[in-house]
Parts: sequence; C-alpha cells; structure tokens
Amino acid sequence: MRGLMINNAPPLENLQPATTAFFFDCDGTLARIVDQPDAAGVDADILQCLETLWRATDGALAIVSGRSILQLDTMLSPLKLPLAGVHGIERRNGDGVIFRPDFDAQAVGAIAEELERFVAQHQGLVCEVKSASVALHYRMRPELEPDALSLMSRVAGEHAAFRLLRGKMVAELSASHRTKGDAIEDFMQEAPFAGRLPVFVGDDVTDEDGFAVLGRYSGLGIKIGEGPTLAAHRIATLDGFHAWLHAVCETWITERPAL
Ligand SMILES: [Mg+2]
Repeated sequence: MRGLMINNAPPLENLQPATTAFFFDCDGTLARIVDQPDAAGVDADILQCLETLWRATDGALAIVSGRSILQLDTMLSPLKLPLAGVHGIERRNGDGVIFRPDFDAQAVGAIAEELERFVAQHQGLVCEVKSASVALHYRMRPELEPDALSLMSRVAGEHAAFRLLRGKMVAELSASHRTKGDAIEDFMQEAPFAGRLPVFVGDDVTDEDGFAVLGRYSGLGIKIGEGPTLAAHRIATLDGFHAWLHAVCETWITERPAL
C-alpha cells in the first residue's frame, strides 16, 4: 500500500493560537495501539506538545476518546485536560465540571456478564467495562472476529436502548446514543472553545461522528491512516501526525513575541 497513502495535513499558517481549538482522539492518535488496552501510553514528548498547545490556546484543547475520563486522566497524567470519555457519553469541560448522563447500570452489568462468559471460553479476548459501555477486544484473536461480532449483534438485539459501535479489533455496546460529535458540539458552545476554529484528529470509525459536525464551524478534520472518512485532511501514520503536532508547537513557540 506504500505510496497510495496521502499526506494532506492542514498548512501550519492556517492555524493561530488565538483562534484554534484542538480536539484529539487518544488511541491510534496520541497513543500507539497495543494488544492490551491497559498497556497503552502517551509518550512524554506528546504530553509536552499537548501542554504547550493547551496553554497557547488558553485551554481550548480537549481529548475526545472511547476511554473513560478516569482512564484518560491516568494516561495523560500529570496533565488535567478537558475530556470527553466513552465516545462522548462523559464530558469534563474547561472549568472541570463533569457531565455524565444517567444510564441503565443494571443492563450494563448483564451485558458484561454475558461477554465475560464468552471471554472465559476464548483466551486472548478482553472484556472491558467502561461505566456506560462494555467493549469486547479481539486484537489478540483476530480470527474470532466473526464469532465476536455475531455475539455482539445478538446481545445488541436483546438491549434495544444500547448502541453497537465498531472499532479497530473491538466492538462495543454503549448505553447512550451520544457521540463524539455531540461532545465536540457541547465544547464549542462554551469558553474557551466557542468562536474558535475546531481541529479534530482521529483514526477510527467512531471519530467520523466528530468529523461530521466540523462543517458547522468551518472546522478541519484530520483522519490518521486508511479508510473512508468525512475528514478533509489525512495523515498516513501516527508518527506522521506526531511530527505535524511537533511542527505546530515549534511554529507557535517561535512566533511568540519576545518579552
Ligand atoms: Mg482511536
């Protein structure tokens, strides 16, 4: 596939600290995807970039991820950034206020039990309970994808209020119909995000909900890697995106007027 991938990142001169708001997915975007979701981490240089951009934009930088707020705080420590967790269900805004809708915890528990039974029969599968959703990871047993997806479809059929999400080597049942796009829209109604140009970067299917709302704000979407997307821009690899992130930081630091 080499050579077919297009690097089409937004030009740095289109982005200014005073008018840009950043929204970043986490896994596959800031953090490398690894076999065990618990083992993923954000490299120190990327944490440094996030802090630089968060300060330069007066706090208009949020992480919009499928992970829970709790997991994201651990991965991003010592930073305490605005966050949207569990694909937009949970949100912590720029003032530190947490929004988390009520959900059917009993149904989440029942789904988790059913998936745990399946996982117990197949070594290498991982069931992850994230407050309002339950994920089934099959990265270490990709040949089990058809079985995993048919189980998830059946369980989804038994819980009509839940939404079935697909990702890279993962399927997930969510107790809410909120999306990453809803979370970005909520941030864009509030300081310090309101009135800025949103830039959203993601690599997976659920990020498309985020790309879909950007047009309303003349925002810029950047898709990492292959696959159909609504994003206008694309960077071929996570390393390519990290190089672009460093370039934004360096440009903005250099352009800062001398004291
Ligand atoms: Mg991702």
